[in-house]
Amino acid sequence: MAQDIRAPRRRKADLLGEIPDGQLICRAMHRHDFPSDRLDPRMRKLPKGMTAQLTREGVFQITDTCQRCGKIRAFTMQPGALFDTGTVYSYAGQTAPGFDDWVTVPWDDASDLGITSRDYRGEQFRRSAEMVIRDARPAKSTS
Ligand SMILES: [Zn+2]
Repeated sequence: MAQDIRAPRRRKADLLGEIPDGQLICRAMHRHDFPSDRLDPRMRKLPKGMTAQLTREGVFQITDTCQRCGKIRAFTMQPGALFDTGTVYSYAGQTAPGFDDWVTVPWDDASDLGITSRDYRGEQFRRSAEMVIRDARPAKSTS
């Protein structure tokens, strides 16, 4: 029986440590902070990070930039800016200017090292531990 004896290419902690803060939080939360998700008719203008371009075909090309990690997605709105529930999102391979480069965690590494969303969450708290300790209130006295 063949057995895969490859050693993990990198250690889990090393790999998690390479992920910039914003990307780490998006991964820990399982979602990006795309401005179009916060689109609200009470707004006076498009939210920061969202652009709309009217194309020659009369549809709107929307570009969304995650305000935490800089990941870019694009989709099309129909004439009249109607959102089609079957809309397909496409994601750029790079982040927007001003953000850290996107760190890809190869599927092999993630599975070899057993990286799960809880690991991202753990790393998020590890990096924030100092703040938790500093801002924690002392336990109330029960006596
Ligand atoms: Zn993000």
